[in-house]
Amino acid sequence: MALQQQLGRTSRTPRWALAYKFAPRLATTRVLAIGAQVGRTGAVTPVAQFEPTELAGVTVRNASLHNWGLLAERDVRVGDEVEIQRAGDVIPEVVRVFTDRRTADSLATSPPTHCPSCGGELHLDGKFLYCSALDCRDQLVGRIVHLAGRRAFDIEGLGPKQVEQLVAAGLVTSIEDVFALGDRGEFSDRVSGKL
Ligand SMILES: [Zn+2]
Repeated sequence: MALQQQLGRTSRTPRWALAYKFAPRLATTRVLAIGAQVGRTGAVTPVAQFEPTELAGVTVRNASLHNWGLLAERDVRVGDEVEIQRAGDVIPEVVRVFTDRRTADSLATSPPTHCPSCGGELHLDGKFLYCSALDCRDQLVGRIVHLAGRRAFDIEGLGPKQVEQLVAAGLVTSIEDVFALGDRGEFSDRVSGKL
């Protein structure tokens, strides 16, 4: 302990300790489809769907490819074999594309021109494609999931599945509706059983 005191610390870490981490676990799978996902900011990002694969104790079915430029740059195609890992053992990502094993029927995906959720026209801003429609359903779902999440209001029992159900049932059509849910009989009748 005296030596630890003597060594002290930098602004970020102690000078007397090192953390060794296991190398991330990897798995190989096949890309079944490349779809587009609309986030809460309206950003429309490519998502690869895989043959379900066991990785670090979890079945991985898809991973974000972040943006369409990156997708083109890395040339991930439907039908490709890819190596995936879970970044920090949590978020799955594609680390390698086996272009040498690519077959003639592999299919490149081009960016969408219209929003897969509301059909609105998309515009490019920096690296990202955006849907700027105000009544876009998937944007609403994304905003409410964020609102209910741990980094915002941390509403227990209101996760992505429940938000999907509430929006599908028409019980939530705006952020404000979330705060009126508790007062509505239909909420407890139709949804609370599932929360
Ligand atoms: Zn949209």
